Amino acid sequence: MKYLDEFRDPKVARRILSEIRSLVTRPWVIMEICGGQTHSIIKNGIDQLLPKEVELVHGPGCPVCVTPLELIDRALAIAARPNVIFTSFGDMLRVPGSHKDLFMARSEGADVRTVYSPLEALKLAREHPEKEVVFFAVGFETTAPGNAMAVFQAKKEGLKNFSLLVSHVLVPPAMEALLGSPQNRVQAYLAAGHVCTVMGWEEYEPIAEKFHVPIVPTGFEPVDILEGILQVLKQLESGEAKVENQYLRAVKREGNPTARKILSEVFEITDRKWRGIGEIPKSGYRLREAYAAHDAEKKFAVGDLETEESELCKSGIILQGLLKPNQCPAFGAECTPQTPLGATMVSSEGACAAYYKYQRLTEKD
Ligand code: SF4
Repeated sequence: MKYLDEFRDPKVARRILSEIRSLVTRPWVIMEICGGQTHSIIKNGIDQLLPKEVELVHGPGCPVCVTPLELIDRALAIAARPNVIFTSFGDMLRVPGSHKDLFMARSEGADVRTVYSPLEALKLAREHPEKEVVFFAVGFETTAPGNAMAVFQAKKEGLKNFSLLVSHVLVPPAMEALLGSPQNRVQAYLAAGHVCTVMGWEEYEPIAEKFHVPIVPTGFEPVDILEGILQVLKQLESGEAKVENQYLRAVKREGNPTARKILSEVFEITDRKWRGIGEIPKSGYRLREAYAAHDAEKKFAVGDLETEESELCKSGIILQGLLKPNQCPAFGAECTPQTPLGATMVSSEGACAAYYKYQRLTEKD
């Protein structure tokens, strides 16, 4: 199949691996940002095929994992209102709040529905003018344009019963925050390919320069990831630190101008809290004042909520690349996909879920 098989070709993968082996002279730590890349790495055993000097650590690029507990509790409080249809992508239903998840709220009678796009939630708002339809808008720059479009359309149609509970986060400020941490181990990034299809890679150039780290926007197939690793290793070994695009078939320097236009029409940048990591300045989107009528946080004043994280869960440290899922004492014991203690075990993009699914129980020798 054109555009797929060639990026899974074992011969090409072996050639890149042998180039990597002959290139590496000392230890390096590379972080892949995106949970989709983490799954591909673990599924294909890429981390285990690399020379022992090259360590891959997993980044915070799982939208469900970094959605703050407060917002999940707020979602639960809104969903419990009698006139509300609360909509969400499937993964969000199972992410534990302080005391329960949205799936449990549904079993207790809340009208919580899984949708596959925000436009589906918009359709529900048209069909149910007597109800308030709320869409839980989580995700990075990848999903934000679709959510922006939904609220833009709702305003245009005068649909007053449609609102977003916004929890959008932005990747570059998180990359900066990790690099600026005293505990940082990351020496190079594989940037999230999907995010870069929207935003391009211009905004990574000041980060590469400031922290002297190579950054390579990378795709999701095994050959993409190996090529991305080779590109950052070439830079690391030669002392370079620049942005180089591996994902040429999808990513342009300026990204997608149409998507960026709707983002800046509907959203403005704000400080955001990341679950397990804490507040990162200017790392999220909120609705602009012109769209305040569609802002669920303003529409449903649910007040300050007391949150309670599991004491056992280490997902915040995992999302910062400081621990691997199989090093968490609860992994596979108290915490499994059936009994998740943290969002990283629930989400289909979560690092803990990847390790569990592909039985990555021990570190490479
Ligand atoms: S294995 Fe479970 S408890 Fe441990 S960090 Fe992952 S989600 Fe949290």
